[in-house]
Amino acid sequence: MSDNTLFIVNSLTRTKEAFTPSTPGYVGMYVCGPTVYSDVHLGNCRTFVSFDLIYRYLLYLGYKVRYVRNITDVGHLLDDGEDRMSKGAKAEQLEPMEVAQKYSNGFHAMMDIFNTLRPSIEPRATGHIIEQIEMVQQILDNGYGYEANGSVYFDTLAYAKDHPYGELSGRIIEDLLAESRDLKKQTDKKHPSDFAIWMKADESHIMKWESPWSLGFPGWHLECSAMSTKYLGENFDIHGGGNDLKFPHHENEIAQNKASCGCTPARYWVHTNMLLMNGKKMSKSDGNTITPDQLFTGESEHVSKGYSPMVVKFFMLQCHYNSTLDLTDGGLQAAEKGYQRIMEAYKTLTGLEATSESGSDDAKLNAMLDAVITEMSDDFNTPKALGKLFEIVPEINKYQDGILDLRNVGSETLTRVKSVMHDFLFEIFGLRNDAESGSMDKMDGLMSLVVDLRAQAREQKDWPTSDLIRDQLADLNIVIKDGKDGTTWTIKN
Ligand code: AMP
Ligand code: ZN
Repeated sequence: MSDNTLFIVNSLTRTKEAFTPSTPGYVGMYVCGPTVYSDVHLGNCRTFVSFDLIYRYLLYLGYKVRYVRNITDVGHLLDDGEDRMSKGAKAEQLEPMEVAQKYSNGFHAMMDIFNTLRPSIEPRATGHIIEQIEMVQQILDNGYGYEANGSVYFDTLAYAKDHPYGELSGRIIEDLLAESRDLKKQTDKKHPSDFAIWMKADESHIMKWESPWSLGFPGWHLECSAMSTKYLGENFDIHGGGNDLKFPHHENEIAQNKASCGCTPARYWVHTNMLLMNGKKMSKSDGNTITPDQLFTGESEHVSKGYSPMVVKFFMLQCHYNSTLDLTDGGLQAAEKGYQRIMEAYKTLTGLEATSESGSDDAKLNAMLDAVITEMSDDFNTPKALGKLFEIVPEINKYQDGILDLRNVGSETLTRVKSVMHDFLFEIFGLRNDAESGSMDKMDGLMSLVVDLRAQAREQKDWPTSDLIRDQLADLNIVIKDGKDGTTWTIKN
């Protein structure tokens, strides 16, 4: 058996560390979720697919995982100080909660398309205002905050006297001193690096709550501090997000947690890297974007054809989460070939039956399987794990082509090859086999045609035709049932 020690590159210490959860067997993981004021873009999808892989691998290793991924529905401001949710609400003439629901639904649908697992808890910032107000009060009580005109600011200078500020991002407070760019509406700050933890709302603001300081709303960083503490405790195992969140969001999260309860929230910080398109950061202002739907249908100048969600996911898997990923048509075409090749090999594998208990290739094949696991345990290295899986593909094909005799592989080893391939492709990478789901779609289409034809025959009281269709389908093990809501069909096993 391979050594299953999991190593994680911890952004907090900038080193690769062996992973040991604080409670053996259990993992608490918090990931910053989307701000639900517009459709998720492919960059967001890459980040959430990466954390899904991490979640799935932790489950595969046998951990009981509590995976918390929030929904940001208040407080994430634009540079001009306007709340993203309010902007969305005004633009679409909807209630802010309608905007949040609309884009949360869209986000979930997209995550389903990419076949990701739902988190264990998905808390919303607006559902945790009380917890956030309590945290602001603790920060004030501990002397790390100050109130000014109904808003409350985090006092970075007071905090930096007692704790290192900038640990995660490597920023130093002197640099921040020089940064005089102030967010609008935060003019009461004593120091440029201070940040709002509670903001007084002006008349035009639509999302506001009563607090001891003003009718207002919480600062963006606060929700993740309050909700991670509530659901995972003051100290938990893993905190994740895209690396654009390192500063200020995650740096300030750490500061808030330390300033309120004195503890560092997470022991391992994991940051995913950005998605680029043709070498440049995906950016709306440069027209350098493609939506997931455009990528699936091929309706974009950036791609020559459509790519299935599983091919796009496979393309993402070919890159380590920690590296930038450049989306190119050529890269997607190569991913499509690789995806089809491995799915075909898996199909071939399922048809192989061992003829002996042990064989001369057993040791070699077992070592190849161990290597897949070792690579994945090395900071979730999906490209290298995939590379090792691909090394097994010619072995499978050799048996299929009769170049190697199946007597060379023992039944126990063959069962392990099947189960590791299955687990990696479907349980850990969360892929689906497009060839199979495609044929199911065709089957659905065909069956609805047959059911319609039979309904027409019945309407015309053409009982012989209707019975013939039913009986011939029964011969194919397809059972149709006439109920009060119409006709349904099932395949009998
Ligand atoms: P947001 O909805 O902007 O709060 O972002 C949700 C998540 O997507 C965060 O973890 C971001 O870091 C991540 N993200 C945003 N843009 C990209 C990108 N181009 N590539 C990868 N991740 C991204
Ligand atoms: Zn967050």
